[in-house]
Amino acid sequence: MNYHILGLFPEMLDHYFSQSLLGKAREKELIAFTYHQLRDWAVNKHHAVDDKPYGGGAGMVFLPEVVCRSVRDLKEKHSIERVVLTSPSGKLLTPAKAKELSSLKSVLFLCGRYEGVDQRAIDLVVDEEISIGDYIISGGELATAVIIDAVTRYIPGVVGKDQSVRLESHEDVLLEHPHYTRPEVFENMSVPDVLMSGHHQKIADWQKEMSIARTKERRPDLYEKYLDQRADAPTRRLKEK
Ligand code: SAH
Repeated sequence: MNYHILGLFPEMLDHYFSQSLLGKAREKELIAFTYHQLRDWAVNKHHAVDDKPYGGGAGMVFLPEVVCRSVRDLKEKHSIERVVLTSPSGKLLTPAKAKELSSLKSVLFLCGRYEGVDQRAIDLVVDEEISIGDYIISGGELATAVIIDAVTRYIPGVVGKDQSVRLESHEDVLLEHPHYTRPEVFENMSVPDVLMSGHHQKIADWQKEMSIARTKERRPDLYEKYLDQRADAPTRRLKEK
């Protein structure tokens, strides 16, 4: 996978992408990063990349000409398959979206700053807008890092055992069960007995039970989804009526 990152501060991500899981994936050449400075496509004698918004208000908006020229140039040079704009108005990042992007060979992420991007540029050159959550951060770079991290975990060979991607929170809608490591007793709190029993089936049952209980308590929205996905969902609906 070739990740292309276009924005005003794209290189700030390189440190993150060089460490741990992503760093290893990069060493194995499963992923590669290319950073593109939006200012290289700046226009007019002031080398502007943004301007004041029509209709007034605070902040600046990326100029459509700069965004369109940069994205088109990069598409031509790098055979980019998908252009993603990070935006709080985008669709929320989901495991399904991360998985879908992981099957592509080359994705360009456009990182907004200030007030964002002129709508006409979005309409002309952006394939999709993705949000990482219902809050505002100051730039698209961090959102891009979040998306790339989530996507990369689905690329075969990145996460040790396929197992550990599958079992994590959200993968089957449920949140994950709690984890424990040494020591057995810490500040008078013991690790649950079942985890020390060595009985694999019992452990699996306990973990599932904890997942369900946690999801029900913490994320009633996901719990509803879980119930809907279960094989007995139609019967349950009938009973509820
Ligand atoms: N005025 C915009 C916010 C701009 S924040 C609004 O109210 O919608 C500046 C940039 O940060 C955005 O262009 C986007 O690229 C990025 N950004 C901020 N919050 C984000 C989020 N939740 N998800 C993805 N990108 C986000």
